[in-house]
Amino acid sequence: MSVLERLTSEDAIALENEYGAHNYHPLPVVLSRGEGVYVWDVEGKKYYDFLSAYSAVNQGHCHPKIVGAMVKQAQTLTLTSRAFYNDMLGKFEKYASETFGFDKLLPMNTGAEAVETALKICRKWAYEKKGIPENEAEIVVCENNFHGRTTTIISFSNDEVARKHFGPYTQGFIKIEYDNLQALETVLKSNKNIAGFLVEPIQGEAGVFVPSEGYLAKAKALCEEHNVLFIADEVQTGIARTGRLLATCGNCSCADKHCSGTPEVKPDILILGKALSGGAYPVSGVLANDNIMGVIRPGNHGSTFGGNPVAAAVGMAALEVVKDEKLAQNAFDLGELFREELNKFIPNCSLVNAVRGKGLLNAILINDTEDSSTAWDICMALKENGLLAKPTHGNIIRFAPPLVMTKEQLLDCVSIITTTLTNFESEL
Ligand SMILES: *Cc1c(COP(=O)(O)O)cnc(C)c1O
Repeated sequence: MSVLERLTSEDAIALENEYGAHNYHPLPVVLSRGEGVYVWDVEGKKYYDFLSAYSAVNQGHCHPKIVGAMVKQAQTLTLTSRAFYNDMLGKFEKYASETFGFDKLLPMNTGAEAVETALKICRKWAYEKKGIPENEAEIVVCENNFHGRTTTIISFSNDEVARKHFGPYTQGFIKIEYDNLQALETVLKSNKNIAGFLVEPIQGEAGVFVPSEGYLAKAKALCEEHNVLFIADEVQTGIARTGRLLATCGNCSCADKHCSGTPEVKPDILILGKALSGGAYPVSGVLANDNIMGVIRPGNHGSTFGGNPVAAAVGMAALEVVKDEKLAQNAFDLGELFREELNKFIPNCSLVNAVRGKGLLNAILINDTEDSSTAWDICMALKENGLLAKPTHGNIIRFAPPLVMTKEQLLDCVSIITTTLTNFESEL
């Protein structure tokens, strides 16, 4: 079989089943092309992408500016390793630092690597700056978190499927309830060895769980009071997804009115990934100011591919697209419209309990038991009707289209979703 041979969907699925590890359970659709908010399967059927690769493709599929930057750089210089300088990395570091309002960037590739990097920086800061006794630093995390799949990260997950039989686990993490300031205050007061608080501004994988108004700012204030680093994992929420450049948007220098107008909190350490490349290439990074990033010295940390010239070119182009096309503003406006339209529909539909979210990171809560297959079955019906979405934990369907969507397209999608739900309900 040659790589050029055209496969049917059935063939492609059978191949993956036979030769690929079964570490995912995909919706049975085989995609072969993408452009903007659309993807096409191998039979040529067109779909709206309502997952955006878990918010990596915020800028839309195959954005010409991002692909153009990637191709140009790929034809010029792809990898030097950090044993040598390259002429792209510094430019990207400057651009990303200025965009998000930090002194420095440490570039990596995947989100999980960036989270690991943040944890290492936080621990080193704790020993060298805060004076916590060696090997006694603790990092506070939240229940139902999702921060990636490495051994350390799953050590503080409470998803048994992701954890079980992967021990022994990494020590040094304390889990508290999400959106519970009292729990945070209690742990900070009772333990002198806390180095950091790692938190998602909105819990994406947990089902788009939006914390109470003011939670992040108050959590940050508590951290400051106890000299604890506030670490925001914005791998999924960042880069315009929630209607602002960052979901924690504080003193960053973006021109987005919803950002400077409603500053919430500036993290001590900011973790980005996914849309930092617009989905074209694995690019992640950690941002912090010099007093924190300064603890990292030559040999302390690294990655062969992290900060390579292609990643740097792609990362810069991806951020430029977000600014040039005012994607934060668009996500804000379309998000309001999406929830407004669904809120008109939900009272007439016994299948859906609620819609929640911010910007274009939303979810509907299906009115059924957590272990039923209703959300999955609805996603199968949505697929038939030309819209791709995926259930998350506990009968919740996440809706996160590319941010380059137009109002007309969004209303078309609302119509697909409500029609599908209505038909599904009448068939029950
Ligand atoms: C996706 C995600 C990660 C992990 O990113 P990978 O690139 O899959 O390693 C970490 N944190 C959050 C909040 C994410 O959504």
